[in-house]
Amino acid sequence: MATGSIDKTSKLSGLSIVENLCITPLINAGGPNTKHSGSRPRPEAVKAMEAMSEVFVDMDELLLAAGKRIAELTGNQAATVTSGASGGLVVQAAAAMAKDDPELISRLPITNGIPNELIIQRGHRFIYDHLYLAPGSRFVEVGRSTECTLDEIKAAIGPNTAALIHLESPFVSGLGVPLTDLADLAHNHGLPVLADCASMLPPRENLTKFTKQGADLVSFSGGKAVRGPQSTGFLVGKPEWIDYARLNNAPNPGVTRAQKVSKEEIAGLLAALDAFTRIDEEAETKSYRAQMNFIVDQITEIPGLSAEVLHNYDHYIPHAVITFAENWKGPSYPEIATRLKAGSPRIFAAVDHRKTASSMWIDPLNLQDGEVEIVAEQLRNILVDASSGNW
Ligand SMILES: *Cc1c(COP(=O)(O)O)cnc(C)c1O
Repeated sequence: MATGSIDKTSKLSGLSIVENLCITPLINAGGPNTKHSGSRPRPEAVKAMEAMSEVFVDMDELLLAAGKRIAELTGNQAATVTSGASGGLVVQAAAAMAKDDPELISRLPITNGIPNELIIQRGHRFIYDHLYLAPGSRFVEVGRSTECTLDEIKAAIGPNTAALIHLESPFVSGLGVPLTDLADLAHNHGLPVLADCASMLPPRENLTKFTKQGADLVSFSGGKAVRGPQSTGFLVGKPEWIDYARLNNAPNPGVTRAQKVSKEEIAGLLAALDAFTRIDEEAETKSYRAQMNFIVDQITEIPGLSAEVLHNYDHYIPHAVITFAENWKGPSYPEIATRLKAGSPRIFAAVDHRKTASSMWIDPLNLQDGEVEIVAEQLRNILVDASSGNW
């Protein structure tokens, strides 16, 4: 068979698709990272996408109804669909500046003459925050990278302020002003709080936590642990702000037009969220923990490193976290991760990229039957080799 052509005699499978493209699949042991293809859509989501392809609808009606369903499923007052959590950030900023004014909505990213400043604490700057600037806004940065006071934010509020931003993400926990205080300040000035909480699920209680703390719009990913289509996300929040968000979002012809979400993806997200919110989180956690204990048991004796199962603010489900000590003789952990990814089978593991960091971890979210054993063995072999200088 010629390379690249479809072999019609063999059964279609994920493996057959990638092999036809001459690329090598990998075991995703590093969590729902976009470069490593996110998470596996739940079977319920895949079925709903296929079924939804059979009908046509009015997209505005679908988006309104889907938003209502997401609000019910998540326990919020209102919600709407976005293209990933990042698409949600663009929509948040557009909503803050143009609200429900059709003239302004169609004018963005031109923001002459309207409040276009988003106040962000320095410690909340992160790799995706430029999405907030896409509809023509600009940042006013306040505080230092490790702290910020309410007074500093207050002093930055002016006639051009459109919103205050809050980031909730692993490894920035506790930095800066508490969300409740930020929300009180914003609301006293008639401003909204825009929150990025993309990866904060599970725990499922977070679906309402940040709205209860006062955020007006909260962005979540649909393609991480919710396991909807990779390209989906959703906003939850106050009805008024969700309306503004929806009016500023695709399929309307505005600055967010490039972020359309198909009817199939919307149906997939709803089915995934429905399943996600029904799952017994305690049982799910127990199963992840057992898998991660298995990994830790395989590597815990290797000199120069410590391995433990962590499940906390920074680790949204139980992770097998490997920390390298001063007496670690082997190569750095990013090199270990590179070798794991170059192995056979290829394995993607998570590494902590912060400058002060010294750990890597295994995330069970995307592991399929039989893969935890493969990951444990390969990880052990590589770490034993690395620790003994056999590299
Ligand atoms: C993952 C993530 C995003 C992007 O989410 P997508 O759904 O992939 O668009 C944005 N912000 C934070 C903090 C994230 O963790």
